[in-house]
Amino acid sequence: MSELIVGTAKAAPGTRARGVIPVTNLPGGRALEIPVIVINGAQPGPCVWVDAVIHGDEPEGTLCCHRVDSVLDPKKMNGSVVLVPVLNVPAFEAAQRGNPLDTFSYDLNRIYPGKADGYLTERLAHAHSVCLREIATYEISIHSGGAHSYLSETIFATTDDKAIELAKAMGKGWGLILKSFLPKGSPPAVMYEAGKQGITVELGGRSATSPQDFHRCARVLADGVLNVLRYYKIIKGKPTSAGKWQTGVQHALLAPVSGMFVAEPTLRFQQPMKKGDLLARIVDVYGDLLAELRTPVDGMIFGLRALPNVQTGEWCCFYAEIQGDL
Ligand SMILES: [Zn+2]
Repeated sequence: MSELIVGTAKAAPGTRARGVIPVTNLPGGRALEIPVIVINGAQPGPCVWVDAVIHGDEPEGTLCCHRVDSVLDPKKMNGSVVLVPVLNVPAFEAAQRGNPLDTFSYDLNRIYPGKADGYLTERLAHAHSVCLREIATYEISIHSGGAHSYLSETIFATTDDKAIELAKAMGKGWGLILKSFLPKGSPPAVMYEAGKQGITVELGGRSATSPQDFHRCARVLADGVLNVLRYYKIIKGKPTSAGKWQTGVQHALLAPVSGMFVAEPTLRFQQPMKKGDLLARIVDVYGDLLAELRTPVDGMIFGLRALPNVQTGEWCCFYAEIQGDL
């Protein structure tokens, strides 16, 4: 066993350390850097790497990292865990999807593996990619619906058997695994290109930030991450299982008109629906109907818009076309 080094964080076997992956400096002189928590087990084993706040308006993953950090004891671990509680710090500070000061490479989840001599956020992606590719055995990217939506427990994985195995290792409550055929531009894409596995996990969003909801999202995410650690025998304990897994593809349903988005009051996440079922109405300020949103195929909703005001072309509903069981 040897010291695990991620950026400035150096953890001897059986210890934990905090530090940063340096990127560059900002105009005011402050450093742009990526905070990391490194938890290095006393015994050898795989490394599970968790990334939160790839999008700055998705803080559920941060609270998840805090929970996971608080319960792990490196002296009892076989393998290691790297937690990135906030990957895109300027976006987090602005509570926006991307760094508002970088309009050229705004969406961090579209620009991986980044560029050493690229735009600001491309450089951040590059610094992250270099460490991730070298150190991680498995990567979990945590996302949510952010400012615009709420997403229920959903995983995106490639159709590779090993990626599906990682997705299934999230355990109880994580029975929807949608296909991302050829991941591009994201941390899981970096893992894929390196012949390793990464998944995107979604839970939460702006309409679930009440104290109860926010803590529930963080707890469910942390339970999933800890289950992955049990599954790969990094920590002791019997992993749970969802028992049944459905798969399919995502349809992002966009607003056909601008107005006020009013979802049907009877809608339930991840319940079977038929093609043509009514999802929502878009009305004008007088309450008159402008458009109806209906399901494009048999399937289920896994995410819904959080903000009722909507512009033409904005996300309204995240719909899963179910293609079978895994
Ligand atoms: Zn996201």
